[in-house]
Amino acid sequence: MDAKSRGALNRRTFLKVGGAAVAGSTLSQTGTSYQKHDESKIKEYRTLGRTGFKVSDISFGGDPATTEVVRYAYDKGINYFDTAESYLGGDAERRIGSAMQFMDRSKIFITTKLKLDMNDTEQQVLDRFQKCLERMQTEYADSLSIHAADNSQIVKHEGFHSAVAKLKAEGRVKHAGLSCHGPEEEGGESMESVLTTAIEDGRFDLLLMSYNFLNEVEAERVLAACKARNIGTTAMKTAPGVIEIETFDPDNPTETQEYLLWRFEKEGFSKEEAIERIQGSLKDQERTQKKIVPFAEKYGIVSNEDLRKVCAQWVLSNPNMHTVCITVIGFKEIDIFVPLSGTKVDQKAIEFLNDFQLAYGNQYCRHGCNQCAARCAHGLPVSRIMRYSYYFAVQGREKYAMSKYRELRGRNASQCVTCKAPCKGTCPYGVNIQVNLASAHSLLRLG
Ligand code: SF4
Ligand code: SF4
Repeated sequence: MDAKSRGALNRRTFLKVGGAAVAGSTLSQTGTSYQKHDESKIKEYRTLGRTGFKVSDISFGGDPATTEVVRYAYDKGINYFDTAESYLGGDAERRIGSAMQFMDRSKIFITTKLKLDMNDTEQQVLDRFQKCLERMQTEYADSLSIHAADNSQIVKHEGFHSAVAKLKAEGRVKHAGLSCHGPEEEGGESMESVLTTAIEDGRFDLLLMSYNFLNEVEAERVLAACKARNIGTTAMKTAPGVIEIETFDPDNPTETQEYLLWRFEKEGFSKEEAIERIQGSLKDQERTQKKIVPFAEKYGIVSNEDLRKVCAQWVLSNPNMHTVCITVIGFKEIDIFVPLSGTKVDQKAIEFLNDFQLAYGNQYCRHGCNQCAARCAHGLPVSRIMRYSYYFAVQGREKYAMSKYRELRGRNASQCVTCKAPCKGTCPYGVNIQVNLASAHSLLRLG
């Protein structure tokens, strides 16, 4: 990515974090301390399975923009920090490390993750984990996890398990974990299949998984199995959709739209063609939004923030899920979710979610599913591409989403545009795979 595009995306990230800062007078001039936005604190702690750790029901994950964001979460009572070697190229771990001096290490649970290749050796796992510890400025991790496991072989990874056994003996790792949101590569398995293998394997103490009201059947089978083995559970991707969509005014584009226009034109499209492509990618969302807005307003749910809160409360209502791991970028996410600690979804919200499912269910590719993969004429990782689109459109992690998509190279969704679509009608939830992938491609391709 060149300097201009980096600038555009960084500016957007800055605006998000800066917006929160201005609203709450958060950062001091030195950027090393902050004032509290409000007095909300974590109210509920749940036992994280056989780890025995009392974990805050709202926990911290994702791409913190600064060290102060980590401190702020800690001061609010969040005591579980999920990170990974790959997040922000190691900077997410570094920011937790910089905040370590302000936190009581014995009172927090830190879990980091390594994405593994089957050929990785025990020594490679040990060496990479040592660097994680150095970035996090700590002597030990409460958990070391396999990151985004997508098949049963990786669950049994010998290099990982022998490394963890050594690290446990040395006191540098306390527990083994695994995260999964479904198939990554061709031949990847569903989330339920991978997690069931992990549970039966017996060596994992905690699991991080996608869980929301649209994948509840499969996820709750996994949760029941975790309960039977006393395995700790953490939820991610709790909010599967959006209510608000960005409008597009070519004369007054948003930061991202401005960037997309610039990139289309750089690729040789005329301005009119570039505008048409962006409008095209929004059409499907506009149709869905027209169905959702009237009843959403009836329930008093008028923004994406409202939707994310209700979805998180739905997850919090299940005691078999021990903590909801929120994707944190700035102070804003902490201010949204901490007040939900100790709350549950009410009947009115359940009715809303039922209606939302009817209107939106066929737009959402379930994280963890791979039922249509075998029907793709070109072997595309359907669920993975749709997940990257989710990172972009729902989580607001545009840069990350586009960089992940770029890694697919020849296996991206450009082929959907001219394909005869033998995948048509194969999604049991009614997702129009071709249209959704083509639209994901137009969103993600310019990274
Ligand atoms: S499009 Fe449908 S069948 Fe395919 S992975 Fe997504 S939810 Fe599953
Ligand atoms: S339309 Fe896309 S997902 Fe469907 S079969 Fe063709 S290439 Fe595969």
